[in-house]
Amino acid sequence: MELIFIRPFSAFAVRAPVLLPAILALAASNALAAAPVSPASEHPATPPSAPAYAGSSLRAADLRVASVVFRLAGYGTPLCRRLEPLTGIVFHHLPEYAPADRPGMISRYGLDRGPGVLAIVGDSPAAKVGLEAGDVLLSVDGKAFVRPPDGIDSKSWRPLTDKSEDQLEDSLRAGPADLIVLRRGRERALTLDSLPACFGRVRLAYSNQVNAFSTGHEVVMTTAMLDFVRSDDELAIVLGHELAHQILGHPPMRNADGLLAAFGIKAGEYWQREAEADRLGLRLAAAAGYDLEAAIPFWRRYLGKYDWYPQLFRSHPSLKARERIVREEMEAIARKKATAPNDRK
Ligand SMILES: [Zn+2]
Repeated sequence: MELIFIRPFSAFAVRAPVLLPAILALAASNALAAAPVSPASEHPATPPSAPAYAGSSLRAADLRVASVVFRLAGYGTPLCRRLEPLTGIVFHHLPEYAPADRPGMISRYGLDRGPGVLAIVGDSPAAKVGLEAGDVLLSVDGKAFVRPPDGIDSKSWRPLTDKSEDQLEDSLRAGPADLIVLRRGRERALTLDSLPACFGRVRLAYSNQVNAFSTGHEVVMTTAMLDFVRSDDELAIVLGHELAHQILGHPPMRNADGLLAAFGIKAGEYWQREAEADRLGLRLAAAAGYDLEAAIPFWRRYLGKYDWYPQLFRSHPSLKARERIVREEMEAIARKKATAPNDRK
């Protein structure tokens, strides 16, 4: 995805020849200053659409994104070579909250003691075992989770939270994992299982930039993108595309802070990857039962106004190329459906 690369050019005319690395450098310096974080409050001076995602609505938004990803990753299993343990837990962590809000999160949930459960995807292994929003995970298979040190800054805590998720997933790869969970001040033990699924780590990032990207460790979608999509079918097109980048092992275009990681990449190579991610993303969405009819109207709305740019200045294939991919994939899926009953005979 990464439409964001071309934004700096909407403001002024660009004369050829400008090489892609220069474009990327410009994008990095101009457009990415407001690196997205979630949920909401680490940067007090964040853009004005904040109230739309305050408190419980942010939780609902996180859960909506996680639920679509859960379906894509779960039903997409035949399309993925490498399988990951999927639980349905949507995490939150103390350092994501503004310093002023942290004491409340500590006294209410004990969120200083480990990764917290922000929400649980319905019908997931986490829901089945009775994990609840508000729980805090203390240990897995006898090993404590890392506790974020007091006053930790945003750059230092992300690797710690990644570590907690790695720790849980490593245990789950060996089978059901024994968890100690803190709930309303009391510790309880439960055994969490997982589903073998495609890659499914996702984070909703608070940002007013309509964008989604992969970091190599997770898929990040902005709250502005969530506002932009008109249905879960469109959401599945966006998230399927980003999951596909991860599944296909494409090098990340950004790091966890939303900063550009891939300088000097050749445009042709980039468009090739975009086309591959489009195709696999559509197959994931179809496997999960989403309506691919949503794809072309989405791309038209999302990319249409940028499509007049000369190819050299675009970070994405032309709208026409994308529409062709959608039609080809829809035809291929329809053909497969038509022949499927015969395969079983
Ligand atoms: Zn992409």
